[in-house]
Amino acid sequence: MGRSLARSNQHFRRAVRRLPLGVSSNYRYWGDDRTLYLSRAQGARLWDLDDNEYIDYRLGYGPTILGYAHPEVDAAACEAMKVGGCSAISTEREIEVAERIAGMVPTAERIRFANSGAEAVNAALRIARAHTGRDAYVLVEGCFHGLFDSVLWRTETMADGRRKLVPDSSGVPRMLGELVHQVRLNDPEQLRKVFARSGHELAAFLIEPIQGNCGSISATPEYLETARKLCDRYEVALIVDEVKTGFRVARGGAQQLLNVRGDLSTFAKAVANGYPISVVAGREDVMRCIDDDGVPQGGTYAGHPVSLAAAAATLRILDETDALERIESYGRRLQAELGRVLETRGIPYVFVGHPSMAGLFLAEEMPRNLDDWERSDYALYNAMARHLNDLGILCEPDSFEPWFISAAHDEACLSETADKFERALDLALEERASQRASRVIVA
Ligand code: PMP
Repeated sequence: MGRSLARSNQHFRRAVRRLPLGVSSNYRYWGDDRTLYLSRAQGARLWDLDDNEYIDYRLGYGPTILGYAHPEVDAAACEAMKVGGCSAISTEREIEVAERIAGMVPTAERIRFANSGAEAVNAALRIARAHTGRDAYVLVEGCFHGLFDSVLWRTETMADGRRKLVPDSSGVPRMLGELVHQVRLNDPEQLRKVFARSGHELAAFLIEPIQGNCGSISATPEYLETARKLCDRYEVALIVDEVKTGFRVARGGAQQLLNVRGDLSTFAKAVANGYPISVVAGREDVMRCIDDDGVPQGGTYAGHPVSLAAAAATLRILDETDALERIESYGRRLQAELGRVLETRGIPYVFVGHPSMAGLFLAEEMPRNLDDWERSDYALYNAMARHLNDLGILCEPDSFEPWFISAAHDEACLSETADKFERALDLALEERASQRASRVIVA
């Protein structure tokens, strides 16, 4: 029997009367009859309003790295409530967490806290502008940095083949586009050309080194090396957006994994196992721009005691235990299981990115950038993802989002996922076969 979403659907009909799309974030809307509402979550599993159980590979788009309702993290957060709340007075824990981060990420010489990834990246861009005295910046196609005007841009290919920068949302001032250069990932020649033409006007090169919002397509170490050299030569700030990769793909994040040094970097998701906190960090001389008469950084909720306590507990576990190694090992074993299912059906595939947040591409070759994603069999992936959701495996219903692994995913999760993956894939293949057959009959 299929899952029932009767209560979620009923709740949607009420919610949509007051909340646009019935949710608090556009990405949570999966259709009028498929949008889920959470009842509770524990470990690697969650339950919706209809009490359907799911093994979760979304983890809130990454944050829940230790699993839901983690006892040590939640106990630390509860204890911190005794501080009494939001006072707009700094607490001792800020430096404790900052010192931990500096120990894990060598480029984090100076650190400030904020609440969301978007806030941290916005601050990084402003700091880069203040440091360089320039306004323009380079974005990379397929990267996501949050819902704010400076980064909501994409490149569209027009009918005549020319590529054009367009806002990725209505309401974004078009004039901002004059400051934006957008380049293809892993195309060093194009990057060299942009720097040769405009390097002296650039404040920043902003990159998500593993595109956690585009199937985990990764920058090659060579590409990052080229970017680093160009940034050095033209005195442009390299901003590494580690909102998804930070404290996940390695203790020192993607900068450690891919051997790149950001002048500035941003962190959020895994920092506090889902409690709202983000980090902008960087070289001492760059971060010095945050000053009384320089860049103001902060906000009412920045450095909230509850989030800081959760961050201290989460980062201690990630730094001092084998949690990250276990996450990676689970990711590798999951890939082996799913790979076996795909191979026996002759479906070409590659796993992309780090095993703790891998994308699955139904294609022969490793994708190098967004253009390659378009050449994968994403229609089959999306059809399979719908069946996976119906069967109780929660991955994003489209192939852009990687599969996030937490330290709470265990053997039972692994075998159940492999089983259901096989069923979901077969259902998607049957659907495709019957669609093709009906097309032949019509023709
Ligand atoms: N940067 C990256 C790489 C992200 O993945 C995201 C969110 N998915 C953001 C920034 C924005 O973070 P937030 O949603 O907390 O604003």
